[in-house]
Amino acid sequence: MHTIYTDRHHGHATENLVINGQPIESRETPARAEAILAAVRAAQLGPILAPTDHGLAPIRAVHDADFVMYLRTAYAQSAAYFGEARPVIAGRNDVTSERAPSCPEDFPGRRDYYTYDYEDPILEMTWDAAYWSAQCALTAADLVRAGERAAYALCRPPGHHAMPDQYGGFCYLNNVAIAARSLQADGPVAILDIDYHHGNGTQAIFYADPAALFCSLHADPDFVYPFFWGRADERGAGAGLGLNHNWPLPLHMDDVAYLVVLDEALHVIADFAPRYLLVSLGLDAAEGDLIGKFRITTQGFREIGRRIAALRFPTVIVQEGGYRLDTLGDNAVTFLRAFEG
Ligand SMILES: [Zn+2]
Repeated sequence: MHTIYTDRHHGHATENLVINGQPIESRETPARAEAILAAVRAAQLGPILAPTDHGLAPIRAVHDADFVMYLRTAYAQSAAYFGEARPVIAGRNDVTSERAPSCPEDFPGRRDYYTYDYEDPILEMTWDAAYWSAQCALTAADLVRAGERAAYALCRPPGHHAMPDQYGGFCYLNNVAIAARSLQADGPVAILDIDYHHGNGTQAIFYADPAALFCSLHADPDFVYPFFWGRADERGAGAGLGLNHNWPLPLHMDDVAYLVVLDEALHVIADFAPRYLLVSLGLDAAEGDLIGKFRITTQGFREIGRRIAALRFPTVIVQEGGYRLDTLGDNAVTFLRAFEG
């Protein structure tokens, strides 16, 4: 199993942030990716490769061009507007599904237009980190397209909450969607999202796409982020109607209950028979996660991996969430080992 990784995510330095005089504690820190990388190395899972640069075109194939330009320039725009360089963060205090009909001209309006969230900073190097995170997913996709049975993109920042033209939930560019869109050149793709949270960005990107199946198992959005998306009656639209499947789940799911639902999703994927499968591998469903409330054990992740791998589709695995640092690496490696052989 090849792992694609770059340390450029360090520039998105979310630890010890102070914004508007307030210390901000983010769970989405560089230490997450480092913990997984250390476990991949210790387990000798396989080669660790740097991503190759695919440029902006595959990113723009998923994200709105103005949004991409905003992400690239927001830090500098903010410094010019406010007269000082400082982290960019939304002016609102909550998640919102409402949006202005068009993008305002002045910077605070633009800033709030391009995020539905309120707590994800854009730092000086955030664009660089997000860009290279997407390149990790694209490079993993290249390996699978070239015949590897599976490849693992150790992405940070994560991606599945990033919409076509809004960021949120620690996600700026939708890594799995960018990889999936590039693979669609060869045929239809399926995306299985097992992060604790609904993959609302991925859903939005492929909602009307007849060549992409999206299946997401996640905590019920009546109680859990992202709140406004992820319900079972969101089934797709237009030519993609029927290809969006959500399993909103009660909190405190354990291995046994989770695997029953996973099997339903795997049946849907097997029936669709995609050319490629992509997995949004959130590990925040783990027991004791600092954000998630499910209780999936390391043995549970082994079995989840085994059942997904048993489908035998060429598979791109893209890292999403996961916040309990002492088990994160073990859970990742245990899941990935299922794809060996
Ligand atoms: Zn998550």
